[in-house]
Amino acid sequence: MSGGHRVLIAAELRNLLAPAQLEGLDVTWIAADQPTPKGDWVAIVPLLSRWVGGTELKNLPRLRIVANCAVGYDNVDAVAAEMRKVIVTNTPDVLTDATADLTWALILACARRLVEAVDLVRSGRWTGWHPEQLRGMELRGRTLGLFGAGRIGQAVGRRALPFGLRVVYTARSAKPAFERETGAVRVEWNRLLAESDIVSLHTPSTPETKGIVNSEALGRMKPGAILLNTARGDLIREEALAIALEEGRLGAAGLDVYLDEPVIHPRLRAAPRTVLLPHIGSATHETRRLMAAIALDNVRAVLNGSSPLTPVYR
Ligand code: NAP
Repeated sequence: MSGGHRVLIAAELRNLLAPAQLEGLDVTWIAADQPTPKGDWVAIVPLLSRWVGGTELKNLPRLRIVANCAVGYDNVDAVAAEMRKVIVTNTPDVLTDATADLTWALILACARRLVEAVDLVRSGRWTGWHPEQLRGMELRGRTLGLFGAGRIGQAVGRRALPFGLRVVYTARSAKPAFERETGAVRVEWNRLLAESDIVSLHTPSTPETKGIVNSEALGRMKPGAILLNTARGDLIREEALAIALEEGRLGAAGLDVYLDEPVIHPRLRAAPRTVLLPHIGSATHETRRLMAAIALDNVRAVLNGSSPLTPVYR
């Protein structure tokens, strides 16, 4: 509708939003390959693939809110936004279960070698049940290490109990309620690497966490351990991981996210014992609609002069 607040929204969200959610807004849909335009828009709803930094903010001088359609907001220069008094919001909580479920899909796929098994059946080379065929990791009695125990990390940890796993975690602050609920123990990063049979990453991408899984960290992991990443690709040095897999030091890697999406480091794509997914952590029908809805609710709140629902800084 014209005459309303001028808002930029990622075109990929068009089918996830009902007309009532756009009422009163004058929407310009921006395609993925289109640069962020210059002009008098007052709100932008980007996907995580769109960088919103100093230049973009300068080109949108009337902007009041960046309503990122993701919980991670490493695609937004939040400091530059704050300096310009532009509010940044994300979409927490609604994607926690979907992403924790997908992490478990990866844990099970890695532990029980599902990709190799499916490939064997598809190839027509399966010759029947064999006692030594495609043996994987029994989960009961093993240790799951969570790097980051916020919303998603804790949800992954809670799902570990029925599988009989012990949980350790690394986070900046202790999580007493989570510890009481799951028996999880907070440990330093190096101890988590040394003790865990399964290491799963659940922190945002920040200057402290970028590249934290480097060759040294991989060298501290147990031989045969499994590494999962459903957080952000730049937490892992991808070439170092490829080498650890090639050398057979790691049992498997299950990844949903990559440094330079959609490009995957060629050596990692070719490495053995991987389960590589195309960033589908939050991809359920319900969650994707809720993410779009929260982003628009944040836009509406800020443009109406109310507080945003889910600001990244409180
Ligand atoms: P969250 O609730 O903010 O949890 C983040 C956790 O990371 C917190 O436990 C935090 O510790 C910890 N942390 C931050 N910096 C750390 C550091 N330097 N060392 C150790 N721990 C650190 O976030 P969330 O909702 O669980 O989401 C986590 C991340 O998942 C998001 O940032 C996003 O990048 C990613 N994600 C990916 C997908 C996907 O599609 N694959 C979907 C959703 C989310 P404190 O609690 O002590 O501060």
